[in-house]
Amino acid sequence: MIRLQDVGKIYRSKRGSVEAVVNVDLSIERGEIFGIIGYSGAGKSTLIRLLNMLEAPTSGSIQIDGVEMTTLKPKELRGVRKNVSMVFQHFNLLWSRTVEENIMFPLELGGYPKARRKERVAELIQLVGLDGREGAYPSQLSGGQKQRVGIARALASNPDVLLCDEATSALDPKTTDSILELLVDINKKLKLTIVLITHEMHVIQKICHRVAVMEAGKIVEQGPVAEVFRHPKQAMTKEFVKQLTSPSENELTFSKLRERYPTGKIVQLTFVGSTAESPILAEVMKDSNLLFNIIGGNVGQTQDGALGTLFIQLLGSEQEAQVVIAKLQASDVEVEVDHR
Ligand code: ADP
Repeated sequence: MIRLQDVGKIYRSKRGSVEAVVNVDLSIERGEIFGIIGYSGAGKSTLIRLLNMLEAPTSGSIQIDGVEMTTLKPKELRGVRKNVSMVFQHFNLLWSRTVEENIMFPLELGGYPKARRKERVAELIQLVGLDGREGAYPSQLSGGQKQRVGIARALASNPDVLLCDEATSALDPKTTDSILELLVDINKKLKLTIVLITHEMHVIQKICHRVAVMEAGKIVEQGPVAEVFRHPKQAMTKEFVKQLTSPSENELTFSKLRERYPTGKIVQLTFVGSTAESPILAEVMKDSNLLFNIIGGNVGQTQDGALGTLFIQLLGSEQEAQVVIAKLQASDVEVEVDHR
């Protein structure tokens, strides 16, 4: 559905030039939820603005539904743009308009038949779960409700592609989950293709089918979520897998853990795919009398299996611990050992 070939974007100014997107090749299929993850400055926003045709690439080809975007005239572009909608991190709502009026706005702009506008808006309000809030102003809504308005407004023109620019980054974790569930629901009901950019691994893990990891304008790895994170080739990809430890656990370091758990060897396991918490440990510990404690970490479920990090304390002699560590190292997990 969306095909980028060797796409580059250079911003030029008096102060010099910035290569924001470099040699990007990307294919996104109809109906999939595709995530692009990277830290700030990686080039994600630029890439999404290229998809939205808000920016023109410096080089390369961008095709949507087989139509080459880079050579379209402005008038043709307007037509195509209706097919690609955007949801923003900070909602971008009109503060002086009600929920209903905000959602109505793109219908007015797009010349949607006046007689059917109310009906369409009611349909969208129901789809995003805002029944009863039609007359509320954005200032009277919670963050999650504001984003629901943002999503309804983006869907008003009945697009085939929804681009989400850090759509949950301004929301608390619980609200984030409810918005992600809404996106999955919409993806299924409307057979909508969703492309989202984020710096949060949780978002990728929860709803994406495939992912691309971006660093310094380049896509360094891409593929099905579990596959990309199972054997991360790039340091950047490994960083994102580690992010899966919960925020408080993120602060955990071997030395902090050592203070709390003075005995036994501590190992960190990072794993992806079918190897869920209990199977790995059960298998490795099967022939061993060694006792162990799980002392931190977080395991999440992706579309194809588990993904996460665990800190484990191995109780027993150094020798026994080494045998278990060797087995873990031979399995499908990345193992980091506190050697003190
Ligand atoms: P991300 O969304 O991953 O944070 P961006 O696409 O915003 O990354 O930025 C990528 C790089 O391009 C950064 O170095 C940024 O400073 C630069 N950049 C982004 N937009 C512009 C612009 N309009 N003009 C000049 N440089 C820009």
